[in-house]
Amino acid sequence: MTLDLNTSVTYLKGLGPHRAALLAERGITTVGDLLSYLPFRYEDRIHFTPIAELVPGQVATVRAEVVSGSLMRFARRRGAMFHLMVQDGSGKLAARFFHGGYLDGKLKPGQPLVMHGKANLDPNRPLRTEMINPEFELLRQSNNPADSTEVGRIVPVYEAVGDISSRMLRRIIYAALQKFRGDVPDPLPPDVLRRYSFPSRRDALIAIHFPPHDANVETLNEFRSPAQLRTVFEEFFLYQLGLAVRRQHEQQRVGIAMRVREAPIREALKRVLPFKPTGAQKRVLAEIAGDLEKPTPMNRLLEGDVGSGKTIVALEAATIVIENGYQVALMAPTEILAVQHYLSARRVFAAAGYSVELLVSGMKFSDKARTLERIASGQSQFVVGTHALIEDRVAFAKLGMVIIDEQHRFGVLQRKRLSEKGAAPHVLVMTATPIPRTLALTLYGDLELSVIDEMPPGRSPVETRWSADAQLPGVWEFVRREVAAGRQTYIIYPVIEESKQELKAATAEYERLSKSVFPQLKVGLLHGRMRSDEKDDVMERFRRNELQILVATTVVEVGVDVRNATVMVIEHADRFGLAQLHQLRGRIGRGSAKSYCVLVAPKNITGEARERLETLVATSDGFKIAEQDLKQRGPGEFFGTKQHGDIAFHIAHPLRDHKLLELARGEAFALIEDHSRGPEMAQLFAYLGPVWQKRFQVASVG
Ligand code: ADP
Ligand code: MG
Repeated sequence: MTLDLNTSVTYLKGLGPHRAALLAERGITTVGDLLSYLPFRYEDRIHFTPIAELVPGQVATVRAEVVSGSLMRFARRRGAMFHLMVQDGSGKLAARFFHGGYLDGKLKPGQPLVMHGKANLDPNRPLRTEMINPEFELLRQSNNPADSTEVGRIVPVYEAVGDISSRMLRRIIYAALQKFRGDVPDPLPPDVLRRYSFPSRRDALIAIHFPPHDANVETLNEFRSPAQLRTVFEEFFLYQLGLAVRRQHEQQRVGIAMRVREAPIREALKRVLPFKPTGAQKRVLAEIAGDLEKPTPMNRLLEGDVGSGKTIVALEAATIVIENGYQVALMAPTEILAVQHYLSARRVFAAAGYSVELLVSGMKFSDKARTLERIASGQSQFVVGTHALIEDRVAFAKLGMVIIDEQHRFGVLQRKRLSEKGAAPHVLVMTATPIPRTLALTLYGDLELSVIDEMPPGRSPVETRWSADAQLPGVWEFVRREVAAGRQTYIIYPVIEESKQELKAATAEYERLSKSVFPQLKVGLLHGRMRSDEKDDVMERFRRNELQILVATTVVEVGVDVRNATVMVIEHADRFGLAQLHQLRGRIGRGSAKSYCVLVAPKNITGEARERLETLVATSDGFKIAEQDLKQRGPGEFFGTKQHGDIAFHIAHPLRDHKLLELARGEAFALIEDHSRGPEMAQLFAYLGPVWQKRFQVASVG
């Protein structure tokens, strides 16, 4: 029989019900799904490395046969080590497999195989090389090289699906492609294909699974073959198309056109501001004001490094909205931050006579009821709060703008729930996770982007040092001197209470530091499990310099703004992520006095933790740090997959492929804006809908 994209995989040879069920768990039910399951790596199995020529430290593929294999069980620990010895004509190679119990009895002497891994010097026999946990594939005893999917070509390597190995997948996919006769609809418009000389989707799929004989294995492994570039482009294109549709949809909604004028109130606001706005602040405010004037709702992301002064821009934007007779809601991820915004908004807006409201969960019932009443009646003009703002009971009289601070802490749905409390209010989201522009476009491609790329004047950069535990007495002495000069200090710990992990905990260290290290000083404790009135009280006393030292967990990570604090000591600094350390450090260096950050961690740590601390010592540029973080963690983890489940690219990688991303975005947005292409679009949407549902887990695209 011949196959097409919709044929069920159960018709394929070698796929019984058990395997079909495994594939179905991965969302693979049709031949089309199967052909979309792409290899993550390729092996050159035309040119094998003779064992005698292996170079320690290098990755190689050898073709050999089994000499012997044996399992060693460990007495005390669970698990076992499988020792394998193989040979080719040139020599012998050892391999060790940790947790290798599953290999026992599977590898008979004489069995041909292909082994791929990094060659190391065998610690016990220095003249011999070995591989630790290599990937390997058993070859059939009699090989017919002509139609083999195993050797004699560049072979694709797939991620195993349950117990369906890469090799089985390769055979199944190869067989399916042999019998494949169906159409492969191509979502890329013909003019796009021509412009970039991309192969058709059909040709690309074939070439990705089974690259032509003259293909270059390095190019393939860098995902730079024409077939792969096309497929990466396609993933970005479909994703961006969805964003473009969403944005168009947004733009068709009727919003509230605000009148922007230099009214007396804004003059008053200028008078109360203790500083002149930076050029960047003025520019982004103009961008925001431009949006507010339009009759479509604003959807803007305001990006700026920690301390760049986003809050004041938000308050100025709020002024415009309030002047027009509408309410503004500002949502912050923590109570501490909400309280802080509340206090600064009250300070700034007092001169203008606006009424400012705070709404958090920990409020007394009667207070809350009265607050809700004032919000519902329209008496409150500026409402600051936490997640409490999106509760059902909260109703606004006339919500004109929604501001979300530290938006990476919220999900898309939370953002939506708040804006649904008004009739198409303007939306401004702010983030201190500065990400490269292209990435911002991938993630938030339906938002306009404003960037504050300038720090307020008079800040001296924070000096960052890396100290070992043994140097702590010196560090404490330094803290004492700074406090004697009138400054304040944060001391940060990764955990609240003592645990098995042998990490110093905030509570215990607070006891110790206040009693024996700084007995003459006022030390406070702040962590997430305290009651909110306790937290407020501690923060307030620290703000007023009644506490000179604040021992805290990462609750101070976002937004806390105490200019007189000039020292931050972060213990177990190697336990924190890069972005988190940068955010923490952003709490100091906010005034004109020189600030110091001390990262406490062993000097002999290695790997990524070392890189993180070295990056922090070397730079305070948030964009550089974010980029480094992204490289270390990959996009999924960086953005927290939970909140951004919609970034489900198969082979596209926003950082590696950012050029293609920009091209794809340009093409997708141009297509949506070109109304003459209606019929083509209808076809494309028929394709796009299911792809979006399946791949990007978004219920609808518009
Ligand atoms: P973030 O962008 O991290 O939210 P904030 O808005 O909290 O930063 O501002 C950080 C500090 O800088 C605040 O104390 C704020 O008052 C101050 N600030 C903001 N803009 C300016 C400016 N143009 N000149 C001087 N100080 C400023
Ligand atoms: Mg802020």
